[in-house]
Amino acid sequence: MIPVRELMTTEVITFSVETPVEEAAACLAERHITGAPVVSEDGFVVGIVSETDLFGKRGTTVGDVMSTNVVSITEETGIEEAARLLVGHRIRRLPILREGRLTGLISRSDVLEFFATRVWTCTACGHAEHGLEAPDRCWSCSGQSFRLDWAHPRH
Ligand SMILES: [Zn+2]
Repeated sequence: MIPVRELMTTEVITFSVETPVEEAAACLAERHITGAPVVSEDGFVVGIVSETDLFGKRGTTVGDVMSTNVVSITEETGIEEAARLLVGHRIRRLPILREGRLTGLISRSDVLEFFATRVWTCTACGHAEHGLEAPDRCWSCSGQSFRLDWAHPRH
């Protein structure tokens, strides 16, 4: 299992509950991101705000429109589990917490990038497969030992 700490973003854009809605919207648009955690002054995650919260709900501050029902994980959570949560909860990003405080963020695109750029190579025969976790058995030789490699870029 590969923990999310290996691919999480640690330079996370965050807002406070007092951030004006228009300021948050401008920030997301400028950085081409679709949402961000909302944190208290001491770093605790108090909500999460998405682009659809900003333009689809009425309010003047991030605190008015944010979702307080935050699904979060820790740095030790596996990538596959994170992917399951992203899909199951139909969310695009998961804050990563240590003792309630924000340490990072993982998005669907981070998971997709991991899937696209890494392969599990069978140590017996060299067959390589994409996946968020190592396969149980090699598709080619039924071997059970794999190492994680960079996929050969295709241009
Ligand atoms: Zn093999």
